[in-house]
Amino acid sequence: MVPPLFGVQHFSNRLVINRSWEQEFRAEKVLAATRVLLAAAWFVAALAAPCLAQEVHPIPLTVLPWNGHKAAVSLTFDDALPSHLDVAMPELQKRGLHATFFVVIAKLQRLDEWKKLPSEAQEIGNHSVSHARPAGMAPEQEGTEVEDATHFLQGNLGVRARTFAYPYSEITPGLKDWVSRFCFAARTGFTGNYYLAPDSTPDWYAIPGQLAKTQTPLSEYQGWVDKDVAAGTWTVFQIHGIGEARVGYEPIAPQTFTALLDYLKAKQAEGLWVASFGEVAGYWRAQKIFEGGKLVTQAQGAVMRWDVPPQFPNGIVLKVKAPAYLRLYQGGRQLAADNGVYSVALDAKALTLVLGESDGK
Ligand SMILES: [Zn+2]
Repeated sequence: MVPPLFGVQHFSNRLVINRSWEQEFRAEKVLAATRVLLAAAWFVAALAAPCLAQEVHPIPLTVLPWNGHKAAVSLTFDDALPSHLDVAMPELQKRGLHATFFVVIAKLQRLDEWKKLPSEAQEIGNHSVSHARPAGMAPEQEGTEVEDATHFLQGNLGVRARTFAYPYSEITPGLKDWVSRFCFAARTGFTGNYYLAPDSTPDWYAIPGQLAKTQTPLSEYQGWVDKDVAAGTWTVFQIHGIGEARVGYEPIAPQTFTALLDYLKAKQAEGLWVASFGEVAGYWRAQKIFEGGKLVTQAQGAVMRWDVPPQFPNGIVLKVKAPAYLRLYQGGRQLAADNGVYSVALDAKALTLVLGESDGK
């Protein structure tokens, strides 16, 4: 049963906060630690001003970075090459790893096989229609390169591509503007830093990707992963051909590729998040949206609200740590905690905070 969140009854029982909230909480033995007491005092102070409805306060919640992992790595494959179907896909599937394939519509062959890609595991991203150099595109072409590829992928693969990779990693303002209308994140090449810290805010339409090259030894790729894990950051690999000297750009040896996957799999067991570009960018951008949400205290309680951009995928769930003196509700339903961590649905665009010990273990 859904408790009457905003009912007078409810609040007269739980949230009479002007006079006796401190004693009330002491009696409930919620405030054992000074830290919690201070945090609760802050929160109650925020709630204690119902006459100042719409006043904005900081939020006593913490989003766990990288979906609760130490660090994140994304593998991306550009240009829809045959080796992506023949080598990358089966090797990823074998290990249960998720990656992103940025396909070029003009180069997309063996469509039936691309259609069979399990979309819950592997992401299809947009890498333009023609792979023309962005600097040479006329303004109207910038639009069609993004839009027509989006429609093609939707119509032929049944995929709504929400991420983009710039051809030649070349960004122009016009192309970037079109990308931002259809996608929520885009990958380029070098931007000055390949290791993105969770507390920084990137340009969502210029996420860097480290280029895998034929001459690069496995140890160097392992070094990228190690550096990423040590720093607790996100790094993105940009891979083209795998053993394809004729059609693929900078093809890497198949044995180097599979050894890299084995390395990632081992690191995954130690807490690394190996996920598609869209999964990581989606979680991270969702975190920023949530952290930018507004906590509004009203006569009835505290509600946090945020907006979700239209290009965003559905179903993103954030791992949110909340203090023990709060109960969290979405859609009128109390959220269950797992060791103080809640699964908060971004799509709900709101989170209600109520004083009272959580039921979480
Ligand atoms: Zn390309």
